[in-house]
Amino acid sequence: MNTCSKCGNQQIIIQKKHSGQSLCQECFIESINEKVLKDTRKYKLLEKGDKVLMALSGGKDSVVALHILNLLREKNIIDIVAVTIDEGIKGYREKGIEIAKGNTRTLGIEHRVVSFKEYFGRTLDEMMGQDGTRPQGDTEPRHACTYCGVFRRWILNRVAQEEGATKIATGHNLDDETQSILMNYLEGNINNLIRIGPKSESRDERFTVKIKPLREIPEKEIGLYAIAADLNVHLAGCPYVGESFRREIGGFIKELSENHPTIMYSTLRGFDKIKSILKKELTPKGNTGECRRCGEPSAGELCKACSFLEGWE
Ligand SMILES: [Zn+2]
Ligand SMILES: [Zn+2]
Repeated sequence: MNTCSKCGNQQIIIQKKHSGQSLCQECFIESINEKVLKDTRKYKLLEKGDKVLMALSGGKDSVVALHILNLLREKNIIDIVAVTIDEGIKGYREKGIEIAKGNTRTLGIEHRVVSFKEYFGRTLDEMMGQDGTRPQGDTEPRHACTYCGVFRRWILNRVAQEEGATKIATGHNLDDETQSILMNYLEGNINNLIRIGPKSESRDERFTVKIKPLREIPEKEIGLYAIAADLNVHLAGCPYVGESFRREIGGFIKELSENHPTIMYSTLRGFDKIKSILKKELTPKGNTGECRRCGEPSAGELCKACSFLEGWE
């Protein structure tokens, strides 16, 4: 009979293939909290007095991150303000906002909902047109996720400034991170690799530092945490089908993990070792100029978000 490796409880909820550990509900929650807080210290993600802008979609990753970071807030180490971005995806985003609201209300955390519409004058649905194709005036074949990602990054940085936040936290997990590493290797985008990590090393101090507290937690365990801790999370997937190459890579890594349960960890560890060498070779540019349209830092005359918007006007 299998019992909890920590307390001997007979009702275990997880058997970790990679470590051989079995855990009961309580010890599992405790172990994830400890791991995340340990990584936060190890990678110096947070300092006492930080004001964290939590990017809260309402999905399991960001909700779990919010609840764990709240442990530091309760100890008066950090302050948190949560933001949910309403991209304007009909029939999908409404529920996520409601769930995000519920979670912040429970924890007593300040919550803002901001929209593509108010910042850019149009929703993602409107950008993508009736048939879900790319916006008029954009000649390059691009996916909805490309636009959405660019506009979300822009809003997060702007809201962080408005709120005086010193860090932006996102719910990226181990699966997301290993997918990004492999995708960039396989596509030969070596310059993108140096941007992957637990903490953004900002090219420019006008960009608020981004942190990923769940970077070493597998997606599966985050899902289990949400169930074990009885958290209300938004389970629906975005109706815009995700980047197909990312999905293929994700499927490939999942398949490999069946027989090689440590493969995601070793991919991450190996990458983190190479990264310091890469960084010496590929030093990111120093301070850049300003976008002439929105004033955000930008290497070119226009930032990515504004170059999209101008192209469609
Ligand atoms: Zn236990
Ligand atoms: Zn701009």
